[in-house]
Amino acid sequence: MDGSPNTGHRKALRRLRQVMAGSASAQERLNEIVKIVAVEMAAEVCSIYVQRAGEILELFATQGLNRDAVHVTRLQLGEGLVGTVALTAEPLNLSDAQAHPDFSYRPETGEEVFASLLGVPIIRGGRVRGVLVIQNSDQRNYSDEEEEALQIIAVVIAEIIASGYFANADASARLGRGRSFPSSRHVGISVNWGLAEGEAVLHTPNVSIRQMFADDSAVEHERLRKAMTEMHAALDELLASSRLRGAGEHHEVLNSYRRFARDRGWLRRIREGIDSGLTADAAAQQVREDTVARMRSISDPYLRERLSDLEDVAIRLMQHLGDGVGHQDLPDDIILVARNLGPAELLDYDTSRIRALVTEEGSATSHVSIIARALGIPVVAKIDGLMKSVDPRDPIIVDGDNGQIFVRPTESVRTILTDTLKARAQRRSVYASMRGLKTVTRNAVPISLNINCGMLADMQWLSETGADSVGLFRTEIPFMVRSTFPDLAQQTRIYSEVLARAEGRPVHFRTLDIGGDKQLPYLQDGKDENPALGWRSIRVGLDRPGMLRQQLRAMLHAASGQDLYVMFPMIAEVAEFKTAVNVLHIERDRLDRRNESGIAPPSNIRVGAMLEVPGLIWQLDALLPHLDFLSIGSNDLFQFLFAIDRGNPRVAQRYDVLSPALLSALRDILQKCDEASVPVSLCGEMAGDPLEAMALLGIGMRSLSLSPSAFGAVKAMTLTVDTVELSAYMHPLLQAPDHSLRRKLRAFALDHGVVLETRRFVDAVLD
Ligand code: PEP
Ligand code: MG
Repeated sequence: MDGSPNTGHRKALRRLRQVMAGSASAQERLNEIVKIVAVEMAAEVCSIYVQRAGEILELFATQGLNRDAVHVTRLQLGEGLVGTVALTAEPLNLSDAQAHPDFSYRPETGEEVFASLLGVPIIRGGRVRGVLVIQNSDQRNYSDEEEEALQIIAVVIAEIIASGYFANADASARLGRGRSFPSSRHVGISVNWGLAEGEAVLHTPNVSIRQMFADDSAVEHERLRKAMTEMHAALDELLASSRLRGAGEHHEVLNSYRRFARDRGWLRRIREGIDSGLTADAAAQQVREDTVARMRSISDPYLRERLSDLEDVAIRLMQHLGDGVGHQDLPDDIILVARNLGPAELLDYDTSRIRALVTEEGSATSHVSIIARALGIPVVAKIDGLMKSVDPRDPIIVDGDNGQIFVRPTESVRTILTDTLKARAQRRSVYASMRGLKTVTRNAVPISLNINCGMLADMQWLSETGADSVGLFRTEIPFMVRSTFPDLAQQTRIYSEVLARAEGRPVHFRTLDIGGDKQLPYLQDGKDENPALGWRSIRVGLDRPGMLRQQLRAMLHAASGQDLYVMFPMIAEVAEFKTAVNVLHIERDRLDRRNESGIAPPSNIRVGAMLEVPGLIWQLDALLPHLDFLSIGSNDLFQFLFAIDRGNPRVAQRYDVLSPALLSALRDILQKCDEASVPVSLCGEMAGDPLEAMALLGIGMRSLSLSPSAFGAVKAMTLTVDTVELSAYMHPLLQAPDHSLRRKLRAFALDHGVVLETRRFVDAVLD
């Protein structure tokens, strides 16, 4: 290379600008680019591999390898060093490439004579589009500057791939799947319930770069400054004017997003890009692609979420540098399909037209999910291969209740959907008319039905369902949307607002249940090999008593002068419960002593344990005297009793909660609680399934806490079941060696006129 690496790279960029300005075809441009890069970076080989349909990387242009190998050499994603760069979306910088375990020899390229290799991914729109490689026959150590230079050149190549001939090749590959591409069903996780139908709108951020290289860097810095100012003003307006007014967790999400938009490091990197000769657009694009690449390699869900906010901001900035933000010509019923998207990106759409959101990544606690929940939009997340399976305007049915979607559904699926929606509308009016009815079984046994909540937005369901109380308030979300612990004032504000919305009905606050699938990066290091059994839940609270004390203090302050219900999750032994309660007492005493603070203590404090760890079943005699109530977390209890990871779809369905074993264990727990006169409730998912809830009434359960979406169906079942008949029927079955009592219980319901919400949509479609 002539001069310093930096000079070579600048010169390469200058020459690339001429190539881009010409009228050559995409192939001719790539041929030119490999020549320029080889010369300017003093490489004996420069090659471009382009990713084709079917996860194939095809050699598209080379300087230095055998030309006959062009369009012949093909690698699978992950195959060889080039395939590894594409798979990991990370550069590979090797002075002795052949010593690398992933080296794969391709005789047609004549490659074996080259020792060193520097490969960078070509990324656009968050996807790897190819790989750019340089090679030398000596064992050369490529510098960081050279690596960075190659990455900038890769941004240029990404533009060619996306804009020219290759985009058409991509399109024809898609069309090649045939216009009558078949109907398909995809399973993800249910983040927000609801059933919806509409047309797919693919959220592929529409940003184009009209010019890669700057004529005048000063002009570009000024464009960047102006676009940043405009972006901040527009963001403030968007966030203030959205439908999301009023208190709620979404405020925290949007505020943290605003902070990201002002991130200095990010801005500095864009400025550096401009200094190296790029336009402001191209520099922002480079930083964005780099962000996406980093995101791919991060497994920590919290950090991924933050990086996805940053990507959102970068796209927004590029839109302000270009034609501005806005979505035109969208259908009335939008099913928004995205790899992932930021909270503000969702708000850019006319949210009154969004029927559902489906994402390839995301999670129940991702920022966009929290915003969507606050808006009442059904969400299914974590659908593998989603973006590859959906074309724009494809009809889609989203079944948020069961975490599945139907792309291009067949006529029969649509008919079932129409019937289900009709039946649901009818049922909704039936449920509404049941709201005023006392919840008693056909044989006049009173049953307490309660709801599970996790956000302020969920509290509306208390009055809409007519539930007796919030049987479980999961307190994790405010902790997960922040980068540090919410302080005492913030927590107190949240719990006070929850209690205000409960209008006097009890709210059973569960203390922080993090760990397992809910990691808090500022507290945990993710090193638990088996997180479900690791440092989680009350174990964290007891090891970090300051944190538990602060949460309990916030609850005590919020419930000043009212009743306070607190429950501790994942209790595994009596001593743990006693220690946790002791922390609560210390805080209550502190409040008593300091009544100069003007905060009166709660009028009543009731404490409970969650039974989720099987070992606690055999300690009930010792535990129950200490409890005001017991709440059974059947999700975790079932997971531990049957040794199945509840989040692993391969095994999650393997055993049934209606197995005689689980039901007998639950019956034994109930008997113990009855003998000790301790109120007991069950708040796992089974309480929200009408048939499973019926079985629970059959073994003697009299209080359930469930998802608000299931309330009407469970109430309808409760009103129509006779628990004496049912218990008599179930009694002998609890000894049976059956895998599940599901079929027998369904037959009982049918024979005895118990109303079970007619087949759920999922059952109907799969039959
Ligand atoms: C349970 O385990 O049943 C429960 C209600 O807690 P979570 O689902 O939040 O773990
Ligand atoms: Mg649990």
